[in-house]
Amino acid sequence: MSLKSISLSQQLLTSILGIYVIITLVVTLVHVVIEYNYTKSNIQSELNRIAHIFEPALQTAMWNLSQDQVESIAKGMREMPLVYGVNIVDANNNTLFHSVQEGMDQDTQSTLMYSFSLFQTMDSSKIYLAKVTLYSSERAIFERLKVGFAMLFLNAMIKSVALILLFYIAFRKHLERPLYELMQQISNLKENQNGIQTIDVDFQKVNEFTMLQSKFNELLHYIHFQEDLRSKTAEEQNRKLEHLVKERTNELEIANQKLQRLASTDALTQIANRSKIDEELTQAMHQNKRYNRNFSVVMIDIDHFKNVNDTYGHQVGDSVLKTIASLIKKRVRAVDVVGRWGGEEFMILYHEADLQTAAELAENIRKTVDLHHFETINHITISLGVAQYKPNSSIEDVVQEADTALYRSKEEGRNRVSVFEES
Ligand code: GH3
Ligand code: MG
Ligand code: MG
Repeated sequence: MSLKSISLSQQLLTSILGIYVIITLVVTLVHVVIEYNYTKSNIQSELNRIAHIFEPALQTAMWNLSQDQVESIAKGMREMPLVYGVNIVDANNNTLFHSVQEGMDQDTQSTLMYSFSLFQTMDSSKIYLAKVTLYSSERAIFERLKVGFAMLFLNAMIKSVALILLFYIAFRKHLERPLYELMQQISNLKENQNGIQTIDVDFQKVNEFTMLQSKFNELLHYIHFQEDLRSKTAEEQNRKLEHLVKERTNELEIANQKLQRLASTDALTQIANRSKIDEELTQAMHQNKRYNRNFSVVMIDIDHFKNVNDTYGHQVGDSVLKTIASLIKKRVRAVDVVGRWGGEEFMILYHEADLQTAAELAENIRKTVDLHHFETINHITISLGVAQYKPNSSIEDVVQEADTALYRSKEEGRNRVSVFEES
């Protein structure tokens, strides 16, 4: 539905003036009807009076049968301001005088007229002489009312114009202008949304506008409060979420590290497992290729370990394995790698170490184990085999060479270090 844009004062003016015009019309109409009837009865009684004035003279003239006299009296009557026509008919029904103003029709004649009969009293009997009829016209009524109507119309016009002006000024001052200012401030609110914005129109008097303004400001406060609450809740939720994400990330990292450790650690001895050593060996091989860094490996095997298990049981065997692993770990540098190769065999990867250096370091380890005092068993020794990686050879080669050297240590009586020698 499309609405035609029209100002409030125009709308009010239209409806008020519409009602005013209808009321004025009705009142004027009633006024006119009353005036008309009143004037009509006035004219009627004036005709009456005229008739009474002329009646004696006319009666005498008729009795004397003086046609001239009758005519001059009738003319005299005809000249009276309200008389528009005169008709005299004698006893024999002869028209003695007839004069009616031109343009008067029969209907008009019948509405305003006065008739009377002329008699002569003789010897106490009445002799009928004639019937006289005086006519007036509605025109006479309108002539009389003309000025009154004009005044009435003028009055209504002046009142209407004055009313329009007064209403217009009043509406503009008390309705349109305050409304416009209110709207202006409300539309300015949209452009500036920092902090609580309120509207403050100076209405001078307390009325519906001031109430509207205060209700509107209450609404603005409420909206601001709600927005504040919403943004604070959102911030709080964001903070909580960030915290949660951080916590979960940390937990995940820790779990990941744990998993990596688990995946690369031997469960019993807590040193690197076979796959970790393999990985480290491969990496060392790549570094040798790229940077020419040499490295050596030491293969370690516990001597007569089967006896330990057989004599003291598997649990003691396990604890011996753990102790030896930790003894070896303590004797190597942080950069070197110690791992369990399998069963009761261990492997050390010495970075930047040639055969000589690796053999010396291996000897230290052998001594450490040899001199260690075990709680549960008397004495235990280890045999070691050392080999240096040769450029462009494989990992299997160097491991095999270390194993060969170890085998020689076993052969030669155990508790010793052998280096791989080319045969
Ligand atoms: P050698 O000096 O020739 O090496 O003799 P050995 O008895 O050490 O050699 P062998 O290969 O005959 O025996 C190795 C033993 O190690 C056999 C096995 O029961 C034991 N063993 C291997 N893994 C474990 C382990 O995880 N825990 C325990 N308790 N014993 C193990
Ligand atoms: Mg073995
Ligand atoms: Mg053994």
